[in-house]
Amino acid sequence: MSHFDIIIIGGGIVGATAACALGEAGVQVALIEAREPVPPGKQQADPRVFAITRASERIFRSLGVWDAIHQQGAFAFSDMEVWDAAGDGVTHFDCADLGEPCLGHIVEPRFIQTALWQQLESIDAVSLYCPARFQTINTLEDRVEVDLDDAQQLTAALVIAADGARSPVRNTLGMETRTHDYRQSSLVALVKTSEPHNDTAWQRFLPGGPLAFLPMGDGWSSIVWTMPSDKIERLLTADKDVFHEELAEAFGHRLGDIVDSGEREAWPLRRMHAEHYVAARVALISDAAHAIHPLAGQGVNLGLLDAAALAEVIVDARQRGKDPGRLSVLRRYERWRRGDNLLMMTAMDGINQVFSNTRLPLNQARNLGLSMVNRSAMAKRLFMEHAMGLSGDLPALAIVNEKVSLSD
Ligand SMILES: Cc1cc2nc3c(=O)[nH]c(=O)nc-3n(C[C@H](O)[C@H](O)[C@H](O)COP(=O)(O)OP(=O)(O)OC[C@H]3O[C@@H](n4cnc5c(N)ncnc54)[C@H](O)[C@@H]3O)c2cc1C
Repeated sequence: MSHFDIIIIGGGIVGATAACALGEAGVQVALIEAREPVPPGKQQADPRVFAITRASERIFRSLGVWDAIHQQGAFAFSDMEVWDAAGDGVTHFDCADLGEPCLGHIVEPRFIQTALWQQLESIDAVSLYCPARFQTINTLEDRVEVDLDDAQQLTAALVIAADGARSPVRNTLGMETRTHDYRQSSLVALVKTSEPHNDTAWQRFLPGGPLAFLPMGDGWSSIVWTMPSDKIERLLTADKDVFHEELAEAFGHRLGDIVDSGEREAWPLRRMHAEHYVAARVALISDAAHAIHPLAGQGVNLGLLDAAALAEVIVDARQRGKDPGRLSVLRRYERWRRGDNLLMMTAMDGINQVFSNTRLPLNQARNLGLSMVNRSAMAKRLFMEHAMGLSGDLPALAIVNEKVSLSD
């Protein structure tokens, strides 16, 4: 049996970030990931990209992986424009108004994943088990035991589940969730437009859901087109010309015509929130704890804040000679993150509902709201601080802007 301080199950972006943060602080970590990493040159482009907030950028900087992400491809956006298809309300955000160099970056997940895994290989305190899955998890008074599918046995003070929205760990341990089916799906694809995107993230609210164009290199954008689930199949399989025409029309030809596009993918949308993020010797982070509507591109960003906060709680407990797997220690993490995540989920639901409603008084009110926000410097700042992840009680790794270790 191999003993570690912490076992992390799920080595996606958030699990790998937690492993880096803990490993850099000298915590002995076992990271279990089911999928074997694809070597950098052999990865396929991902039609779904992530809008990475300034807070997440800082976390990556403090772990020393931001330069590797940036070199592979991270596109800064300086502006954001949001408007309603059923009215003339519009809000424009400009990073210069906030004294920031940009509002965030658009990055393909594979670049983040590669940078994190390369970093992990250089951290002695982290042992990678990949490809591997857990078979059983046994939580005991003083430790947790994890059996892998290749018969290896691991023990630790705590297991962290970073194994995604369907979290096998959460399900195995019977941790309860609240879920809601939005009956919406998002179509994602890379598209090239005839007009320049001007490094702006654009979002048009249509009655069926928002349509976002996220700026990338060489005139390409990544789209996230949310619509009722029963409408998506036709657009997924439509001829390119038909798809290009309908997309340009849905976007009000804001960036001219669509002149080229890549593979299309659909993602059904569901909200999920775990009733508890922690139990004795177990902590859930990121999508294992919460799945959120993608309209503001916050999912992985909230997950990274979870990872940074939990790593801080664990390192702090160890420095005080406390057992990091005890419920009393873990509750600090739950108190820290659950309320913030719930607030963001509720805000996304509210925006989604208000903009999907076609009734006239609400329609007029939201257009007025957009115009008012556009005229108020204070409202804009407040909104942007949330969107950039720079509000609330930030973990240490999201405050500093250079490489650090939590044990410093
Ligand atoms: C259309 C769409 C657009 C989005 N856009 C954005 C955006 O712009 N910005 C943003 O922040 N978020 C966005 N999100 C949300 C984002 O995709 C998720 O929040 C993010 O992928 C969660 O990362 P994770 O590491 O928690 O989980 P995952 O990426 O799901 O990783 C889980 C990992 O666990 C592994 N695993 C699973 N089971 C096991 C097991 N039994 N044993 C070992 N390993 C296991 C998996 O192989 C995987 O590597 C978007 C989501 C959608 C649907």
